[in-house]
Amino acid sequence: MAFIDLHIHTTASDGIFTPKEIIHWAYKKNLKAIAITDHDTIDGLEEALEEGKKYNIEVIPGIEISTNYNNLEIHILGYYIDYEDLSLHKWLSQIRISRYIRAKKIIEKLNNLGFKITMDEIINIVGTGTIGRPHIAKALINHNYVKDKKEAFEKYLGKGKPAFVERYKITPIEAIKNILHHKGVPVLAHPGLINNNDFIFIIEYLINNGLQGLEVFHPKHNYDVEKKYYNIAKKYNLLITGGTDCHGDLINGKPILGNLNINEKYLKPLKLRKRINIGV
Ligand code: AMP
Ligand code: ZN
Ligand code: FE
Ligand code: FE
Repeated sequence: MAFIDLHIHTTASDGIFTPKEIIHWAYKKNLKAIAITDHDTIDGLEEALEEGKKYNIEVIPGIEISTNYNNLEIHILGYYIDYEDLSLHKWLSQIRISRYIRAKKIIEKLNNLGFKITMDEIINIVGTGTIGRPHIAKALINHNYVKDKKEAFEKYLGKGKPAFVERYKITPIEAIKNILHHKGVPVLAHPGLINNNDFIFIIEYLINNGLQGLEVFHPKHNYDVEKKYYNIAKKYNLLITGGTDCHGDLINGKPILGNLNINEKYLKPLKLRKRINIGV
């Protein structure tokens, strides 16, 4: 049986490994196919696609868009997005500018709390990536203000903490529409992380607006959560996807990439959906 991993971050956003390195890990872990799903960017796709060819690993071009709905953090994955479309680049660069402005506000808050961190330092850490809170966490760690990423989020960067700043609010509907418009397949990421009792109504609302799949398999979904969303996906005739959400952090010297052992059988319906979407 062959395995796949459909949720992976690279240095193009806030991951630790370059797209090339991700392919090398996927090869070592014997994966058949992977999807690169960086936050609000498609900049890592070409490198991954090219390297994937060399190693005979199928690379699905993807993206993960961060959105908000009624104060809930909702992430929408977009598979097979047309990364060559110029209007997609324009939309994404708009989102990334707002991330930059938000990071400046976070730094300002941290400075007011007495931390000597500069925007130049953050930009150095980000490199060519999409700026996000993990980069700011890294700066806090470098200064020994916190011991790890977890502490950075729990004490300062997480929602409701003293250096928290909301992202520019794009709605999940806007993300779904844009993904569809750019020939992608919109899938709700890690639904189990969205804590809300009325969540089923939100899922129905998203489906009515074009959502086509649910990320059922995710490291933060326990067995019951997985089962719950598997059943919802079946009930609403949604695609079932899954991935490790690998950011490159090492466990016993290896990234989590591929560790969910997701069966390749989930790839075929996703591919079919893409073809139906674009009408071929
Ligand atoms: P941002 O896109 O700037 O809002 O940052 C979100 C990213 O921060 C997520 O994709 C995770 O990589 C990371 N993150 C969010 N919450 C935590 C947490 N409590 N601990 C560690 N990393 C987190
Ligand atoms: Zn991330
Ligand atoms: Fe996410
Ligand atoms: Fe993610």
